[in-house]
Amino acid sequence: MKKISIVISVYNEEKALGEFYSESRPVFDSLPWDYELIFVNDGSSDGSASILRELAACDKRVKVIHFSRNFGHEAAMLAGLDKSSGDGVVCMDADLQHPPECVAQIIEKFEEGYEVINMVRTQNKSAGLVKNVTSSAFYWLLNRISDVYLEPNASDFFAVTANAAAVLKENYREKVRFLRGYVQNIGFRRTTLSYEARPRVAGESKYSIRKLFKFSINTILCFSDLPLKLGIYSGMVVGLFGLIVMVNTIYEWASRGTPNGYATIVVLLCFMFAMLFVIVGIIGEYIAILFTELKDRPIYIIHDTENFDV
Ligand code: UDP
Ligand code: MG
Repeated sequence: MKKISIVISVYNEEKALGEFYSESRPVFDSLPWDYELIFVNDGSSDGSASILRELAACDKRVKVIHFSRNFGHEAAMLAGLDKSSGDGVVCMDADLQHPPECVAQIIEKFEEGYEVINMVRTQNKSAGLVKNVTSSAFYWLLNRISDVYLEPNASDFFAVTANAAAVLKENYREKVRFLRGYVQNIGFRRTTLSYEARPRVAGESKYSIRKLFKFSINTILCFSDLPLKLGIYSGMVVGLFGLIVMVNTIYEWASRGTPNGYATIVVLLCFMFAMLFVIVGIIGEYIAILFTELKDRPIYIIHDTENFDV
């Protein structure tokens, strides 16, 4: 019998975990494949760890990875992928925003021969207007400037076969990364399924606007080198502009004597310096990423695990 590994990232989800388990367990029990639930406790500081230990003690299918501290959602998904032993792996959230019923459809797709399944949300009731608008703007920009195409509504709910998971395990170990983007660009037979994102069952979203902003910037830097070329383009535009100003100045000097250009000089200086600093800053961002990759620190550190050796 084939087996599916279901990876669930958990960060301070004590309010949602009980409901997640009691609601999803019967759904998973009725699956045509055997399953394992890999909960990744991403350094929770609430009661999540003890709830997971209890679940693992009474259910051998529940496996738990405890991180030594918080490493972030993507690190948690990667750890789950790394430890998975199924013929297919599904990554999902612990807050029931990703309906467990979808796993049955995912297995159907696997059996039809698909190897990468991206879940696309049709509706996100819990996300406000601001989140929806900024998310669309982000994908629009990213797809304009990067050489890969990223599905705008693809979520971090996805499924891959063991084959495709191996690629993520071995070759996509970047420290600054966008897992969702990689999943869409590793090739393989790919399809999408849609689902309706439900509101969170309990607790609150762990992604603040600040975190999302940082995440978006990093993603753009990872998928595009256009920002690096900004210096060349703006240099050319400004050079042309300078040439026009020069010709104009010579003309005015010849016809009316030395022009008085104090204001022009100040404005131009401010403008030029602002542009220079922005470009230097962009280069700095790339260097910061290079530095992070070079240091090669671990993506996550495991404190202990449960039920992996049974
Ligand atoms: N999460 C995590 N580590 C973090 C932040 C979040 O493992 O540092 C988990 C969280 O417990 C949840 C999932 O990632 O299962 C998605 O987070 P959340 O629901 O807060 O994000 P949203 O659905 O609002 O985008
Ligand atoms: Mg959520």
